[in-house]
Amino acid sequence: MAYRFETLQIHAGQETVEGTTRSRAVPIYQTSAYTFDDADHAARLFALQEFGNIYSRIMNPTNDVLEKRVAALEGGAAALAFASGQAASAALLLALARPGANVVVSQELFGGTFALARKLLEPWGCAVRAVAPTPEAVSEALDGDSVGVWLETIANPSGTVPDLSALAEAAHAGGAPLLVDNTWGCGGYLCRPLSQGADAVIHSATKWIGGHGTFIAGVLVDGGSFDWGSGRFPAFATPDARGRSYLERAGRRALAARAEDLGLFTLGMTLSPYAAFLGLQGLETLSLRVQRSCDSALALAQWLAAQPGVERVLYPGLPSHPSHATARRVLEHGFGAVLAFETRDAASARAFLDATRLASQLANIGDAKTVVIQPWSTTHAGLSEAARRAAGVTPAMIRVSVGLEDLGDLKRDFAGALAALPA
Ligand SMILES: *Cc1c(COP(=O)(O)O)cnc(C)c1O
Repeated sequence: MAYRFETLQIHAGQETVEGTTRSRAVPIYQTSAYTFDDADHAARLFALQEFGNIYSRIMNPTNDVLEKRVAALEGGAAALAFASGQAASAALLLALARPGANVVVSQELFGGTFALARKLLEPWGCAVRAVAPTPEAVSEALDGDSVGVWLETIANPSGTVPDLSALAEAAHAGGAPLLVDNTWGCGGYLCRPLSQGADAVIHSATKWIGGHGTFIAGVLVDGGSFDWGSGRFPAFATPDARGRSYLERAGRRALAARAEDLGLFTLGMTLSPYAAFLGLQGLETLSLRVQRSCDSALALAQWLAAQPGVERVLYPGLPSHPSHATARRVLEHGFGAVLAFETRDAASARAFLDATRLASQLANIGDAKTVVIQPWSTTHAGLSEAARRAAGVTPAMIRVSVGLEDLGDLKRDFAGALAALPA
């Protein structure tokens, strides 16, 4: 039976209630390794002739439920849990990159992904081409050595929403897979990029999947849709020590197999089962929390736009936002839980932040608590001034990740902080 999102977020991946204890909740399997029936069983598992648990760097039953649940929510063929969103991104990029290749990325990119591109890919000989997230710019940047196009569902803090299906077409016409950081698509509740033509998705589960600001985690979802046998990805077709390539042993899940081999088996960027359990707790209420935050974000954006001292509000849910029409097609249920607004200048932005009482000043998003920050001097401070402006960041900008508090209380907090701005 095909269950809907709200059912899958509670049940998917937990096929059976655990046999010995009958624990209804998914248990935290806090173990490093798993016993073999006998020596033959061990050899069969290591030869990949039979599937079974071996060692928790590469597999764990708690993590397995999280992986299957996110794969179900995103409509993917397989998923892998990682120690952070960064680790999931690194595993995906490493699975595709090679010396002489290039990756085409949106110029409005999460800072950590830029860091991976600049500190990991470029020194190893894989070029990174940052362009506007439009089909025209992406088509122009692609060539015969392009191994991926990397976008974000909703860019931060500009709120740009790329036209995913048009970009999937452009990427595929250029022979490259479309890779989407869907962190802001909130576990698939606002957007399921695989259904719009993307080939792989990553999440920082630290954000809305977890939802309470209590742990760091990432997930990579393999859409199972891309043809890795085209010749552009020789690593997928190269036989391993046992004589079998990723394509031969994993078929349409070859990307997940390679990312698991590199990211978990080789690099050990493994999620702890305790964090996986927290991720599962978060998922059970994902749609309820995200809906509430999106509804409050829209109301707050509309309210802020009418306040003295606020020069501009950036939120894709407002008709004034350049991405509004695209966002209506690409997103469902809402326009995201994050908005940005500009005060008169950098000093006013800081004065606002220091005058809030309810909202926390911190570098995170997707928390049940509303959080505020000045991206110019914090999350985006590592970029050049030109790169910050290209990413839509200005000194007077404040980013708000709207939590689950009472909307009236939030408005009162913001009104008080606006009243404290220098004249
Ligand atoms: C936070 C974030 C990441 C990185 O995730 P971590 O869990 O912090 O490693 C990647 N992409 C986006 C869009 C994010 O917001």
